[in-house]
Parts: sequence; structure tokens; C-alpha cells
Amino acid sequence: SPSSRISGIIPSGKDGWEVHMAAWARRQAGEDIIMLSVGDHDFDTPSETVEACVRAVRGGHHHYTNLPGLPALRSAMAKISTRCTGVETSEDEVIATPGGQAALYAAVQATLDPGSHAIVVAPYYATYPGTFRSAGADFTVVETRAESGFQPDAAAIEAAVRPETRAILINTPNNPTGAVYTRRSLEALAEICRKHDLWLLSDEVYWTLGGGEHLSPRALPGMNERTLVINSMSKSHGMTGWRIGWLTGPSELIRLTIDLNLVITYGLTDFVSRAAAEALENDFGVAEIAARYAARRKAFLAEIEGSNQITVRGSEGGMYIMLDVRDVEPDCEAFAWNFLDAEKIAVMPGSSFGDAAAGHIRISLCQPEPVLADAAARLKRFVANYR
Ligand code: PLP
Repeated sequence: SPSSRISGIIPSGKDGWEVHMAAWARRQAGEDIIMLSVGDHDFDTPSETVEACVRAVRGGHHHYTNLPGLPALRSAMAKISTRCTGVETSEDEVIATPGGQAALYAAVQATLDPGSHAIVVAPYYATYPGTFRSAGADFTVVETRAESGFQPDAAAIEAAVRPETRAILINTPNNPTGAVYTRRSLEALAEICRKHDLWLLSDEVYWTLGGGEHLSPRALPGMNERTLVINSMSKSHGMTGWRIGWLTGPSELIRLTIDLNLVITYGLTDFVSRAAAEALENDFGVAEIAARYAARRKAFLAEIEGSNQITVRGSEGGMYIMLDVRDVEPDCEAFAWNFLDAEKIAVMPGSSFGDAAAGHIRISLCQPEPVLADAAARLKRFVANYR
């Protein structure tokens, strides 16, 4: 039989993707359905990055790479970490990983022992529980409140701290809520981490899509030595399928993750690493992608403005908008199914992201502006005529 360590990492059963799967099947069968349920860009990687990769492939860069990442890649990542976190970052404080998910895995493996405990702020990205389980760690989910814009609740988080707690995992800008944590929220979290001697695992993969200047908890007093920042080129540089991310943290800990990578990945793809380094050094696509999502968010929100049946919660950054539909239909799953049937638009019911987001629907901004404006108009019509 398989090991108990990996059995049950991802429990089978209801996962909340039923509406999406049904919509996808209907689309495959020829129906004209707008998919606002998924979170991958609807556009290709910037052509400069693609060209850099083609050059690298043709240039014979087909070999093993240095384990923590090619020096040029590591150096570019350190520079971006300096910008992202506001803390001067050296090359030995970063490790290149195949995507932000692998950076998160390394962070969790590096800070949690079997039987130790972590706290995760919800709603959260779907892979978080499985990542804790893969380390044999226990975890407590602490919900945020929709009414406070899904900002973390410091008192509830502190109440969940146990003697065996080692880390708190947060994500800002947030998937799925779009909340961007305020300085006050982050200061309260930092205070808890310092007081109870905890690691802060900070998933900042949406840092360029926050709408304003990004604030990383790593920059707060006493936090540099206890913060691990998960980063990625997937969202910021339009490179989801390239699998390039990195982890930033104290060099002693990063050194251990290099050993971990030795036994998992044995380094990254040579030509992809070279293209990624060029893309990081030159910010290929970053401003354009950020502007595109900002314009989409604005277009969608402008269209539903004035509807007194829908309340926008969070939704300040990232790739999603969270709408409170409780005044229309308290059961958000029923709302999503009815919306699909009536208007042929697929959205995610908030309940699939936990209790705090129940009564909400999540709209993905991964469609062109006119499609989003049309979807918002249909949403307004749908709620006005509900039942
Ligand atoms: N963290 C968050 C919050 C995400 O939404 C995602 C992807 O959707 C990831 C991490 C992982 O991204 P990747 O592994 O593509 O870098």
C-alpha cells in the first residue's frame, strides 16, 4: 500500500469545482459560455520572453543548471525581491524553484516538522492544506470576515496559537478574495509572530497586481529574520506554464532548501532559466499585465456599480473580484448554477473557499475587457430579475 505520508494529501470528494466542470462540458459541446471561473491568463507570454527562450534553445543551453538557480537568474530574483519586499536582498537569500507552488512547498518543508502546527488565514489558495499535510504538519484555519473586506483577524489568529505552532501562512494580494492586506493588518500579524517566535510564510505571487505600492511584511521591524516570501513569474510576467518561482528568506534556511531541491528537482530547465532571468532584468510585460488587470477590474466594477443587491468585498488586487450576493440568494452554489443556466456565465461559488466566502461568488478577470463588461451587465440583469 502507498505511504501514509502522501495518501490523503488531497482528500477526494466535493471540491467546489462542479459548476466550473459542468460549464466546461457544455462549452465543449458547443454552447457559448463565458468562463469566469478559472485563474489563468487569457493571453500568451510576452513575445520578448518567448524570443529570449528561443534564442537560449538555439544557443545550446540544454544542460544541468546550478541547484539554487543559474547565477544570472538568482541575481535577477534577488533584485526583484529587494523591490517586492523593500528589504535589500542578496543572492544567497533566494532560491529559484519550479513555480511559486514549489517555493511554498520548500518553505513549509523548511519550517514545519511532523506533528508541528501552522495557522492559515482563510479564504486561501486551494493547495495550502495539501502542502501542510505533505509535511505531516497539523494546521488551523482562521477565517477572515467578509464585512471587514477579508482582512486578517489578529485576535482570532493569536487565539489559535499553540505551544507547537511554528508558522502562519498568509497571501496578499489574496486569491480568492482580492484583499490587499493593510499596513495595520500586517503589523498586527508581525506582532504575533515576534511574540510567539513564529515564521511568517508570505505568499506574494500577486504583488504586481495590487493596484498600488506593494507592502511586504518582511519589511516590518524584526520580520526579515522570520519571514519567507513565496514569489513567482506566473502572474506578474504572464508565465504560468513556464514554472518559475522563487523563495526569499534568511540565507541559512535557503541553504537547506538547496539540499531539498537536490533530491526533488535537481535544478531548473536551462533555457527557461535564461529567458526568465532576461524577463526579470527587463520587466518584460510586467507593467502591461498590471495595467490590463487594473483596467478589467475597473470596467467590471463600473458596470455593476449602483446595484444595491450586490456588495463588493475585498477585490482590491490580484486576478479576482468577490461579490456578496446574500441579499439576492443566500445559497451561493444555487446562485452560481442558476446564473450559469440563465446567463451562460461560469463563476465560482464562494463556499468552495471556506465559510468566510460563503454567500459570495468569485469572478475571474481572465477575459478581455468587453467580455467582462458584458458579463457584468448580464449579472446586473440576472440579480434584478432573480426569482
Ligand atoms: N499562490 C497563490 C495564491 C496562487 O494563486 C497560485 C496560483 O494560482 C500560486 C501560489 C502558485 O502559482 P505558481 O506555482 O504558478 O507560481
